[in-house]
Parts: sequence; structure tokens; C-alpha cells
Amino acid sequence: MEDNESLPIKGVWNKLSIKDLSIKGKKLFIRVDFNVPLDENLNITDDRRIRSALPTINYAIDEGSKIILASHLGRPKGKADKRYSLASVARRLQRLIKKEVTFLPDCIGPETEAAVGKMADGDIILLENLRFHAEEEANDAAFGKALSKLADYYINDAFGAAHRSHASITGIAKFLPAAAGFLLQKEIEYLQGVINNPVRPFVAILGGAKVSGKIDVIKNLENKVDKVIVGGGMAYTFLKAEGYNVGDSLVEKDMLELATTIREGVVAKGIKFYLPVDCVIAQSIEPAAETKLVTAQEIPNGWKAVDIGPASVKLFSIALENAKTILWNGPMGVFEVDAFSRGTYAIAHSVADAYALTIVGGGDTDLAVSRAGVSESISFISTGGGAALELLEGKALPGLMALTDK
Ligand code: AMP
Repeated sequence: MEDNESLPIKGVWNKLSIKDLSIKGKKLFIRVDFNVPLDENLNITDDRRIRSALPTINYAIDEGSKIILASHLGRPKGKADKRYSLASVARRLQRLIKKEVTFLPDCIGPETEAAVGKMADGDIILLENLRFHAEEEANDAAFGKALSKLADYYINDAFGAAHRSHASITGIAKFLPAAAGFLLQKEIEYLQGVINNPVRPFVAILGGAKVSGKIDVIKNLENKVDKVIVGGGMAYTFLKAEGYNVGDSLVEKDMLELATTIREGVVAKGIKFYLPVDCVIAQSIEPAAETKLVTAQEIPNGWKAVDIGPASVKLFSIALENAKTILWNGPMGVFEVDAFSRGTYAIAHSVADAYALTIVGGGDTDLAVSRAGVSESISFISTGGGAALELLEGKALPGLMALTDK
């Protein structure tokens, strides 16, 4: 990995990595993304984000560092709020790493500093939610400095928050040598690698609610992909722009012209562009709503498309057959409702069965592959929704830029 030029990834390897540091006996402030989903009883419903940080944490344990972990959870609006406490995360982490994790009730202050001062090599502390202080999201310089006082080195392993210019992401990095953890590196490696140097044929599957949310991704991928498959709510703006009646399906009126420009531009480059040919429609998105299967040209008024139909699944699956790289971002329908989830799950299976490097990133797509039961068969599932999208849009991540150059 010494030779930057031979790597598909530009940008990350001129930054310090945790492996470049001599961390034995040192205090590491590791910014992780433990922003896990909780149920109404505050139980963790999915601990993938915690497990994704384990390679960095275990490495630091093995190297004999003193490990200070910090994260945000939810949107507590700058005030301490028990509903957003990381206490349950500390317990889950302790179970996962089979080592004691000391939970501190605040991320800064004299008591926190005193507890950190008493740490022995290999000890692990998890700080309370960074966002209990409004200064975190405001990227307050004094707050960043207060966090930096806890440690000798700053490690960013929070890919899911790397697109935020917050105190624990960029501010703190001004005061300490700042390096990337393994998860951050892996995320950048896969997502940036697929954009910079994909093995062809490269197929992008884009879905989700709105065209506006994915426009920049399409533009950035335009010169790299061989095929673009569009499903989900965003497909109906494209279909409407082609002159079809799409009934009450989700349409962004202010995007119609742009949709045509994009489709024509993509096709002019010789890229194949696929839209649904049939869809499941309903009058509402209630689970008990009556559904019908119609062709994409025949969506009646009063009905909206909520999923792609079997012919679209077949068309899209055939388009994936010879792919060597597949990037999937966004569900094919309102998959949160069982009755409208078949198209998304079928595509999840087609992606999982493909003999290709398969990368799933952004939004709810990771949840969709997990519910389809195929997560294990996907090459890489990104842990960061917004951050993954920004990378795919070709934007520089503030969290990555803030790290120390080699
Ligand atoms: P995004 O965050 O843009 O990837 O959008 C994900 C959301 O798109 C999911 O919550 C889906 O329910 C929604 N979605 C997918 N297909 C449709 C559709 N045909 N109509 C409305 N919403 C949809």
C-alpha cells in the first residue's frame, strides 16, 4: 500500500492510518458511529454499527492502548436526554468484546478527565452521547479542544458521521495527530474504489424515494457505469417525463425536465438505462390496501406504484447477469410494508447471486438486504447512509479531509 499511484483509491492513503501510529500505552480517542436503532424500551434492535467498529477496537486492545470511545446517538438537540443515552451500547459492546467497558456519564469535564487519567493499558471507556452538548454539532473549537485533552491520538472510525463537520469529526483533529480506523478505510476503499476503478461491466441500481436525492449520484456515475437500473419511487418521475400516465405515484414535478436530460445524456453515452415495465399499485400505503399488478404504462388515477412487478424483476435480473461490479443504493418499492416488499427482496437475491463484486450503500438498502436474508452474500455493505451517498456523489468527506497527512 506504499504506492499511491497503484491504488484505485485516491485521497485516503496519504492520510495517517491507525497502523502508522505507535499506540502502545497511548490514549486513543476513537470516534465511532454507535448511532444504533433502539426500540421503544430503548433496546438495541440492530448492533451492526457496533460490530463494524470491533476490528479497530480489538486492534487497539491487542496493541495495549487506552481506548476512549465516543459517538453520537440520535438527535438529542444539545441537551442530556436519557432516551439517547449510550449506556445500553456500553453493555452491548462489553458483551461483544468480552471485556469490561466503563461508561462515563459525560464526554468532557473534570470527572471525565480524572477517570481517563486513571486508565491502565487495555482499558476501555465509552463516553456519553457527544450530542448532549450543542457544541458538538456547532463544531465549537473549545469543545473540540476539550475532547482532544483526553487523548494522545485521534482515530476516526465513524464512517457514518464522516460527512459532518462536527467537533468530534473535524474540530478535534486540529489538536491531535489524527488517523483513520479500519472501518473508515474499508468504507472509502470499497465506495471510492468502485467509482474510480470498477471492474466492468459495472451496473448501478438506484432506487428509493426521490430523484432529487440521487441526481448527483447519477451524474457522478455517468461516465463510469455500463448500465443504470432505476426502481423505487424515483422511477415514476422518469416514466412521467417519458409521457406515461403514472396515476398518483410519487412524481417530482420540478425534476421532470432534468429526468429527461439525464436519461437522454446517459443513453447518448451508450449506457443502458432500465426503468420498471410493470408495477404493484395500491390506493394507499396501508398494509391491508388492495393491490393490483399493472404494466408501467397503465397506472390508473387514484392508484400509486408501490413496488416493481415480476417482469421488472426479470428484466433487471437479466441486466445484472454478466455484471462484474454492482452498486445498489435505494429500495425498489415501499419495502417497509410486507405486501410491497417482493420486488426489493427479489432484487436483493439477484444481487446476492451475481458473480460480481457487490456493494450495497446508503439509506435503507442495508436493511432491505438484511430482511431478505442475503447480507452474508454481499461483498460489502456500507454502514453510512448520508456519508456513502456523498462519496458516491463525488464529494470530499470532511472527516477524511481532517485527518493528518502522511
Ligand atoms: P431513500 O432514502 O431515498 O433511499 O428512500 C427510501 C424510501 O423510499 C423507503 O422508505 C421506501 O419506502 C421509499 N420508496 C421506495 N419506493 C417507493 C415508491 N414507489 N413510492 C414511494 N416511496 C417509495
